[in-house]
Amino acid sequence: MPETSSPIGATPELTSVRAILKAASFAAERHAAQKRKGAAGEPYVNHLLEVAHLVSTALSEPDTNLVIAALLHDTIEDVGVSKDELAETFGDDVAGLVAEVTDDKSLPKAERKRLQVVTAPSKSVRAQILKLADKISNLRAIMSSPPPDWSLERRREYFAWAKQVVDGFTAPNPLLKEEFERTHRKFTTPS
Ligand code: ZN
Repeated sequence: MPETSSPIGATPELTSVRAILKAASFAAERHAAQKRKGAAGEPYVNHLLEVAHLVSTALSEPDTNLVIAALLHDTIEDVGVSKDELAETFGDDVAGLVAEVTDDKSLPKAERKRLQVVTAPSKSVRAQILKLADKISNLRAIMSSPPPDWSLERRREYFAWAKQVVDGFTAPNPLLKEEFERTHRKFTTPS
């Protein structure tokens, strides 16, 4: 992998930490002008870090490339980074993972949402982990800082759709699935 190969003397752990931080910097730079849709207008990179952290807590075996892909998961869809650039900078495995969780923006929004439900069962196990973490982060954001123009009905629809996608996963990570269910319940049955 370009630039992430071990300099002499670097341990695999150090190489992995450097690669993850390189991806975090890349994501922060490319998403610098983007804010989350919520009323709080948080920097978008907060979402990327949250998703990468969720992914890292779900793994029982180290998977540096999956954590890197989590940091970069919206770069193709939201800020126009090409799959080729990701492959050159972070390797084919990372680029392939990001592409697998990227919607085709040339399609209308309703169709993209329908396709997420339809294709959920055929996603790779690693893409399912990433998408599950993404959905958890999105649900949390809608609860803590909903977009100002979203009615309760629209929020309900989003939650129902996210659950449809997640229920389609054939190999959901148990920890993340539980966290998703907990978050979903908090919204649907507030105490
Ligand atoms: Zn995302």
